[in-house]
Amino acid sequence: MPSTAFSDLPLGASTLANLASLGYAEMTPIQAQSLPIMLKGSDLIAQAKTGSGKTAAFGIALLEPLNPRYFGCQALVLCPTRELADQVAKELRRLARAADNIKILTLCGGVPIGPQIGSLEHGAHVIVGTPGRVQEHLKKGTLKLDGLNTLVLDEADRMLDMGFYDAIAEIIGQTPSRRQTLLFSATYPAGIEQLSAAFMRAPQQVRVEAMH
Ligand code: ADP
Ligand code: MG
Repeated sequence: MPSTAFSDLPLGASTLANLASLGYAEMTPIQAQSLPIMLKGSDLIAQAKTGSGKTAAFGIALLEPLNPRYFGCQALVLCPTRELADQVAKELRRLARAADNIKILTLCGGVPIGPQIGSLEHGAHVIVGTPGRVQEHLKKGTLKLDGLNTLVLDEADRMLDMGFYDAIAEIIGQTPSRRQTLLFSATYPAGIEQLSAAFMRAPQQVRVEAMH
């Protein structure tokens, strides 16, 4: 069994203090299995049911290597819907070290694009968005992903259900090939295999069974 203590992970003291202040006393099972792999820099496919703490798992992994002094997009999280993107952004803001002034921006459809372009001009370390709107910003040149370190496909099964495969593929085509790719999903349909074969490098797989 992997350790469930956050303090056994290669995390900075301020990250550990922040987790304690959030009341995160120990890792959930999916966090305990996935964080050691992600913090080593490996690609990962993680499967666990809703409510198991997947957001903090990839959130801790993507925030740890961020360079606060570089205001380009270093981590991109793609989500199926605006509601989910908002929830992820909220959790990432709680997890981000307050002192580092990490800027987390959401880019989703259904709202005017103009204010998003204005926000992007000020720079953001982390972008959370839906595939369609992220693609639009890439086409306009208002978002650049050439400094990206971490790409997260959250709720990948739902994004595939919604027909986002081509949009995801096009977005990934604009990212550096040396990026880390993390895929999170509640289920493991065939499309996930296709995504991972096309876009991931020797991904490790972890899976937490539902409790009965
Ligand atoms: P999932 O994405 O797997 O559906 P979430 O990331 O939304 O699940 O997490 C569910 C809830 O668990 C959130 O309210 C989150 O703040 C909380 N949580 C996550 N990790 C921990 C932890 N290690 N200890 C306590 N609560 C946690
Ligand atoms: Mg989730």
